[in-house]
Amino acid sequence: MSEDCDICFNHSQNSFSIGPHSASVVVVTNRKSSGRFQDALELQLKELGLDLSNVYYTPVIKCSDFNVSLSNRQLKEHAAEHLIPELNRLKNVTHILCLGNEALLSITGKSGITKYRGKEFEFNGAVVMSTISPSAVNRNPGQKPGYLADLRLFVNNVNGVDQGLADPKPSQIIYGVDKESLQKICRVLDMTEEISIDVETKKGEYYQKDTMGSALVSIAATCVIRTPEGKRGLVVWAVPLSHRGSVWRNAWEKVMRILGKHISGIKEIDAHNGSYDCKWMFQYDMPLMVTFDTMLAIALLNENVQKGLKPQAMARLAVPAWGIDTGDLDSYDIMDVLWYNILDTWYTYHIKLQLVKELKAQPRLDKIFRTLTMPAQADLI
Ligand SMILES: [Zn+2]
Ligand SMILES: [Zn+2]
Repeated sequence: MSEDCDICFNHSQNSFSIGPHSASVVVVTNRKSSGRFQDALELQLKELGLDLSNVYYTPVIKCSDFNVSLSNRQLKEHAAEHLIPELNRLKNVTHILCLGNEALLSITGKSGITKYRGKEFEFNGAVVMSTISPSAVNRNPGQKPGYLADLRLFVNNVNGVDQGLADPKPSQIIYGVDKESLQKICRVLDMTEEISIDVETKKGEYYQKDTMGSALVSIAATCVIRTPEGKRGLVVWAVPLSHRGSVWRNAWEKVMRILGKHISGIKEIDAHNGSYDCKWMFQYDMPLMVTFDTMLAIALLNENVQKGLKPQAMARLAVPAWGIDTGDLDSYDIMDVLWYNILDTWYTYHIKLQLVKELKAQPRLDKIFRTLTMPAQADLI
């Protein structure tokens, strides 16, 4: 069905578009819409909550050789000849996503994807947003979190979602920075039915305290409590441990022991990649067995997704990037460390609520998770 391109004559041209002409969402790509490229893109958009039955994909260049390189002027001429008339034929478009600079240039006339990504433009009354191309992400995986954040912004715009999960309220938070607040945390733990827990660490492995100076920097949790009057609620807390700015830096192992006594009675323990946290907590007199590991549940439900807490929370809960990526936690303000430690547990808890529903919808996987995956992890600790 292809014919020679009548603008540059150096490739044959074809449509390569897929999706219904009634679609309200259009994705303009820099590749033909098939194969692994397309599978990965659809998976990402679906995970972010986009209704894929309503999406039309179309490559910016209609040619069989996508390695052909065109000048900006040639690109615009190609778009005027093929892409723009094609989009004009679609009558229900409300949102257009441009992947890569060629797509951005062809639709908006603007060049500079790193400058314009994530910003809103307009085309024929539709909202236009753009991000870097998936091929650029493949070449440079460090770009992935920013790329996913842009996709999330777009999907939220399509779905009319302004913002994601709210942070815990100040009234829900206890910072264990003196004796009184520590006692308060212990009372919360005595009322806790379910806990989502996370530790921050420094220097090496849990068994390398003497050789490497490895230590726990802080610990935090989101607790589902039930008061004596039967009221349920969420309380979050964080305690500084060996951090340079911690009041407990010379007594943090004792603090772990005290907390450990009150935590050990809790039946439901959630964590993300909990075997890591458990090994550390065991080492410091807090013997806990994770009963729901969100990372393992995610891997079981879909082995192809990014399993890290950050990409998962950004995609599932529509929250912005947070936390400290690299380096020595001691060089950050202790209150920042505690806040990120808290968010890790807050997001883990809310992702867990989603995963419970997703597993319920797949009873076979649910059974595997409860009877095989989680017990196997407990054996490894
Ligand atoms: Zn051409
Ligand atoms: Zn953490």
